[in-house]
Amino acid sequence: MPNAIQPKPGIMQIKPYKGGESVLGGISKVYKLSSNENPLGPSPRAIAAFQAAAGSLERYPDGDHADLRAAIADVHGVDADRLICGDGSDEVISWLCYAYAGAGDEVLFTEHGFSMYRICALAAGATPVEVGETNRVVDVDKLLAATNDKTRLVFLANPANPTGTMVNAADLARLAAGLPPRAILVLDGAYAEFVPGFDAGLALVDARQNVVMTRTFSKIYGLGSLRVGWGYGPAAIIDVLNRMRGPFNVSTAGLAAATAAVRDVEYMAHCQAENIKWRDWLQAELAAIGIPSDPAFGNFILARFRDEAEANAADAALRAAGVITRLVKGYNLPNCLRITVGDEEGCRVLMAALTRFMEGSA
Ligand SMILES: *Cc1c(COP(=O)(O)O)cnc(C)c1O
Repeated sequence: MPNAIQPKPGIMQIKPYKGGESVLGGISKVYKLSSNENPLGPSPRAIAAFQAAAGSLERYPDGDHADLRAAIADVHGVDADRLICGDGSDEVISWLCYAYAGAGDEVLFTEHGFSMYRICALAAGATPVEVGETNRVVDVDKLLAATNDKTRLVFLANPANPTGTMVNAADLARLAAGLPPRAILVLDGAYAEFVPGFDAGLALVDARQNVVMTRTFSKIYGLGSLRVGWGYGPAAIIDVLNRMRGPFNVSTAGLAAATAAVRDVEYMAHCQAENIKWRDWLQAELAAIGIPSDPAFGNFILARFRDEAEANAADAALRAAGVITRLVKGYNLPNCLRITVGDEEGCRVLMAALTRFMEGSA
């Protein structure tokens, strides 16, 4: 007899998210360049705030996230009342899907877009719609052409993951202005802090009623283990998301560390500068040994190999040298490796291993 207990349609179509690997059998020193983590770690002030939180573990966290929202509002010059904090920005992405998209509704993202968009759309019972890009760059015209009266959400990360490419502000404004009336544009700014002077779409959020921005403490702030992200949008949308939010969705330690991290503007700028320095070095070194990549705006490089077999072989050679990067077949990029920019040692070990590999395969 078939099992009568079944989930809602869509759930069994989800391919569970796979995080970057972190261990290699038999190798003690591993360089994990697979999850776009900050090799320098979080601000020392964030670590101190986390440790201080150990003194009050019996207490529920501040369900209003007042200190963190105030800190974000100060640093980014935004309205604290239109900020919402999540258990990672993934939680903000899933609220948007659950609140605005269900059976019969379409959720758009692009062919190399972040996998959580599809997962959250399916979990909400909506129909995921994958739209083509142009040479690994999100194409606003293709997105606009794919919209219709069923479109509820359009997700795009800027800079994008795993391509590392960006869409310019004028194109984003055109996309927001061209969406059907019931659709929301979600700008995922997980890597925004790696781009000096970039506002991540804040001005567009403020100018319109149909744009939401998401941000995270998992990347430049180096707090991936604590799971803190945030969203900023029109009051009406933030009100909807707050109704779905668990009252204590972010832990006291997470709130304290994130608050200290966002206020430590100097440390963030240091991490931004180090990333640019080593990203540029890595990109030039890769090009010199015949591995092309697009201009990279985040803290990772999408290295292109001749074909899938060569990408697999490069991955194996790196693992043998203790370096874990990320194969991105699941993102329709079978001939590529996504390489997180490590610290100096990580970058040099990676380049030495890849140089040996390319000499061997020439
Ligand atoms: C890493 C990443 C996130 C961040 O997720 P968190 O849940 O905040 O850790 C969101 N979007 C993209 C594109 C990412 O790469």
